[in-house]
Formats: sequence, structure tokens, C-alpha cells
Amino acid sequence: MNPTNNQYQDPTLKDWIMGIALLLIYLIVIGLGTFFLIPEYWHWWLLLFFISTILMVINQNRNYACRCRECGHEFEVSFLVNLISPHGVDKEGSWQWVKCPNCMKRAKATVIKVIKDA
Ligand SMILES: [Zn+2]
Repeated sequence: MNPTNNQYQDPTLKDWIMGIALLLIYLIVIGLGTFFLIPEYWHWWLLLFFISTILMVINQNRNYACRCRECGHEFEVSFLVNLISPHGVDKEGSWQWVKCPNCMKRAKATVIKVIKDA
């Protein structure tokens, strides 16, 4: 897609902890929102849910890229792809179901950390 000078590396333990902490904060915010806002203020809850999700995806977009498991090509994905593509974790690490721009295969790609160009 858009080539950058960014370097990539496998997520470190710190990245995993940060990622899990962020996910927990996200779930707590949504959970508390559900408790305090539903049913009277459900539209505020919807807004809260929407904003939290967007922030999570922006964070993902800025800090993470994908490495194709078929050909090893490393690439960054768009905000929209990050938002809608399935994510998961297996024994090879964190993955995202995306289409590789190099071999054009739609498959699991390992999520890797973006190192901002020095
Ligand atoms: Zn590929």
C-alpha cells in the first residue's frame, strides 16, 4: 500500500503487557458504561463504545503491522481493514486475517510491532 521507512520487529513482552492492559481498560470502560448508562442513556453508551473502539483501532494502526505467514512480506494495513478484519491469538502469536499485498493470499498474518523510522 503506502511504503514507509518504518522498521518492524516481533512484539516484546512489554508490548504484550501494554496490549493486554489497553484491552482491559477498554473492557472496563465499556463495562462501567453499561452499568451506569444503560438503559436510560443508551445513546451515550453507544457514543462511548464508538469512541473507545476508534481509539483502540487508531492505536493498533499506529503501532502495529502485519507479516504474511505465506511469503514473509511485511506490510501495514489501513484503518478500515484494522477495524473490520478478525484478530486472534494462536501459538505463533497474535494474528490478523488480512490480504497480503505481495502474494495476494487472504490468510492469517502475524501482527508485528512498528519501529518508528529513526
Ligand atoms: Zn504474502
